[in-house]
Amino acid sequence: MNFFDPHIHITSRTTDDLEAMAKAGVRAVIEPAFWLGQPRTSVGSFIDYFSSLVGWERFRCAQFGIAHYCAIGLNSKEANNMALARQVLEVVPHFALKEGVVAIGEIGYDEITEAEDKAYRAQLEIARELDMVVMVHTPHRDKKAGTLRSIEVAREHGIPMHKLVVDHNNEETVRDVLDAGAWAAFTIYPHTKMGSQRMTELVRQYGPERIIVDSSADWGVSDPLAVPKTARLMRESGIAAAAVEQVSWTNALAAYGQSGQIDLDALARPPAIDQRLTYSDNSVLRGQAPQIDAGVPN
Ligand SMILES: [Zn+2]
Repeated sequence: MNFFDPHIHITSRTTDDLEAMAKAGVRAVIEPAFWLGQPRTSVGSFIDYFSSLVGWERFRCAQFGIAHYCAIGLNSKEANNMALARQVLEVVPHFALKEGVVAIGEIGYDEITEAEDKAYRAQLEIARELDMVVMVHTPHRDKKAGTLRSIEVAREHGIPMHKLVVDHNNEETVRDVLDAGAWAAFTIYPHTKMGSQRMTELVRQYGPERIIVDSSADWGVSDPLAVPKTARLMRESGIAAAAVEQVSWTNALAAYGQSGQIDLDALARPPAIDQRLTYSDNSVLRGQAPQIDAGVPN
């Protein structure tokens, strides 16, 4: 079975992770632009980061047979540095139009400040003008109020609900998001918040329609195999295979496929890895014999 992890910060993960993900069936990922732990101090840092999302990280994933897409945006936390935020917002539209970019994201609220609100609204405008999907990060505190407000503001800016993916949901918010007509994504964390067991119960209760499972694995304690592990638990718990496939593959493809950036036929075929390739003269290999799959042209 193929899996799509539509929210994972590949920049923070190792090649061991990429190998394990490919082995577990993760065929495609989306890497949304986010906060790196260390606050950035200049717009150049954002430009280089966005460039790596559409460049090096995409290449790195391909070297392990994983199709890499990304979302471009100014995260809510760094939106609070308003002088810098203004400069970052100027470069977002340029990167949003690059190959492999499937959404504006992850954007939204963290502490629900005025600066966050301003950056969120500015980026909703960019998404509306470019007719793009929006990936929303909902705050971990004040979850329900923050989620409702995220949807309300997106609606105010004319984002069609079928182009809105609201992430980091839980039992408290799922009904509101589904009723609004948006996609409801769930981040599965190994120890806190949503776990695989709770996710299984949610799918049992709400069904698979417009529900998406992701790992949001980053530089913290998180699990890049959260999607395949949750899918396995769902199957073992008696959730129908078709429903499991919907929440761990089809729905994310439908939501982000609206970008026109995802080649569904290519994803349906097994990957053809050619580790002889380099990116700006860089390779993922350290002296190993490169993997060259059958079907790769010589
Ligand atoms: Zn994230």
